[in-house]
Order: sequence, then C-alpha cells, then structure tokens
Amino acid sequence: MNPNCPICRGIGWVCENHPEKPWDPELGCICGAGAPCKCNATGGVDEPDVSQVIVDDEPKRRH
Ligand SMILES: [Zn+2]
Ligand SMILES: [Zn+2]
Repeated sequence: MNPNCPICRGIGWVCENHPEKPWDPELGCICGAGAPCKCNATGGVDEPDVSQVIVDDEPKRRH
C-alpha cells in the first residue's frame, strides 16, 4: 500500500462505485462498499497472490 497514494489518500481503500475516490466519508465517498485501491491490490492480505495477477493480465480470446 502506498501511504502517499493520490487516489485513496493512503487509506488503501476506494469506493466501489467511485474507484478514484478514497473510501472515506470526508475525503472521498462511501456510497458503495469498500474496494481495494490499485496500490492495495492484495485487499489487505499480507502476501500478494501473483497467480491472480497473471490471470488478470491474460487477454481473453475466444475462437
Ligand atoms: Zn491507493
Ligand atoms: Zn461512491
């Protein structure tokens, strides 16, 4: 997590409906559920799951 993150202001969480706003009633928005910020991709889990990142980056192809 980036304590100086301009998106979540270091909270590590953003509004589910507004991913560019910190999940805070004063700093941002809490109209939706909390979602992990880009700087907090692990969702609070200490060990990042690399396999999920690889799956996300894989382009979806259907023949
Ligand atoms: Zn952030
Ligand atoms: Zn919101």
